[in-house]
Amino acid sequence: MAVIHHDVIIIGAGPGGYVAAIRGAQLGLNTACVEKDPALGGTCLRIGCIPSKALLESSELYLEAKEKLSEHGIKCGSVEFDLAAMLKRKDKVVATLTKGVEGLFKKNKITRYVGHGQITAPGQVVVESKDGTTELTAKHIIIATGSKVANLSGVALNGDAIATSTEALSYPNVPSHLVVIGAGAIGLELGSVWRRLGAQVTVLEYLPRILPGMDAELAAEAQKLFEKQGLQFRLRARVTAAKLDGKECVVQSEGAEPIRGDRVLLAVGRVPNTEGLGLENVGAKLDQRGRIDVDEHFRTSVPGLYAIGDVIPGPMLAHKAEEEGIACVEHIVKGWGHVDYNSIPAIVYTEPEIASVGKTEEQLKEEKINYRKGVFPFLANGRARALNKTEGRVKILADAKTDRLLGVHIIGPRAGDLIAEAAVAMAYGASREDIARASHAHPTLAECIKEAALAVDARVIHI
Ligand code: NAD
Repeated sequence: MAVIHHDVIIIGAGPGGYVAAIRGAQLGLNTACVEKDPALGGTCLRIGCIPSKALLESSELYLEAKEKLSEHGIKCGSVEFDLAAMLKRKDKVVATLTKGVEGLFKKNKITRYVGHGQITAPGQVVVESKDGTTELTAKHIIIATGSKVANLSGVALNGDAIATSTEALSYPNVPSHLVVIGAGAIGLELGSVWRRLGAQVTVLEYLPRILPGMDAELAAEAQKLFEKQGLQFRLRARVTAAKLDGKECVVQSEGAEPIRGDRVLLAVGRVPNTEGLGLENVGAKLDQRGRIDVDEHFRTSVPGLYAIGDVIPGPMLAHKAEEEGIACVEHIVKGWGHVDYNSIPAIVYTEPEIASVGKTEEQLKEEKINYRKGVFPFLANGRARALNKTEGRVKILADAKTDRLLGVHIIGPRAGDLIAEAAVAMAYGASREDIARASHAHPTLAECIKEAALAVDARVIHI
């Protein structure tokens, strides 16, 4: 069998892998990408971020038409939804985007291998596909295989009634009672979709709060708003088992009564995809949590072998993987490449959205960093009033001594877009005063960020 040589082989075509492939090709590398799924784009495009956003958008539009447009003086009569059409639109959004990545591969002359890639020796990858085996070699191999749903022993996943986010993106009917295990981003986003479409939704969460890792004050506000929308929460409930009992599902937990529903969504985190990769063939080291051990340039313990994205430590976010993919390839080609982990935003696409960048108040307290805080509510913002979306607030945290921006946390309309300003400011090491003095167009939601910055030293104008 002829061995095919490339400069770099990337295993996995999610946002980390495909972006690394494009950057590699741009930098003149003969680039190959191995992906077992026939569609490019990974979890994010196929069964994660993109389809969930499509459904979040459709379900929110339905709810707006049904309950909120009348406040604008718009009469819709009776509003109905067609679930099959909604799911079809979501699939079309996904298909268009995955085809788009295919087009980008062609444009950049990236060689694509459809099949399962395994590292057999340093610099060697074997691709197994339905058409046979292909042997590849390269000086550089980048692992970008992402993550998979974390299982809970005792939860009998059956790909149907008791299932994961993948299935929750395509339920053929609205559940009558959806029991969600885990109040993280996935549980809350998909719980919101089905709640808006009429399901009773109960979220079981092990911790005494929702959205661990996000600023606690905002998470508490989010919980109240979600409860107003009809989501029910049982906190301090550690789920131990979920199984079918006839046609019903029964979910057992420590700290809460057993709960019954017609569907269960397991969303208790994700684990790195390292199985079957052949890491043991080359002796690549893993850390205690099963993530691939890398240095600051994404080099594993094996020369020429790199890893990026969800398989290495750090937040499991598509844009973090993208940055790492680019930095990794740039380091290979140019000798430098860098990711500013301090300015990576995180967003939960519920209604309202929740977005954050930098440190939370809890982290600052724990690290004994003295900070000052400014808060501004959307209620006092003209554009938010005009939009009729006044829930939420912006919170800015700045170093008490240097005024350097330490964290920005937003719950409110379009928080996910608004956070970009804060991320750029943090990446440039801006002070809170830089934001306070920058002109923000009126009337915009972004004025809330400026006002929160002014609020830090009691110069807020509109409250
Ligand atoms: P998560 O880690 O964000 O949340 C899981 C939740 O489950 C936690 O609150 C945890 O305390 C709880 N939990 C764990 N064991 C439990 C048990 N036995 N009983 C009850 N609760 C339990 O995980 P996720 O929501 O599944 O998301 C997975 C990953 O995907 C995360 O890294 C997340 O950041 C990422 N993601 C991000 C977005 C986004 O950025 N919008 C969307 C989806 C997923």
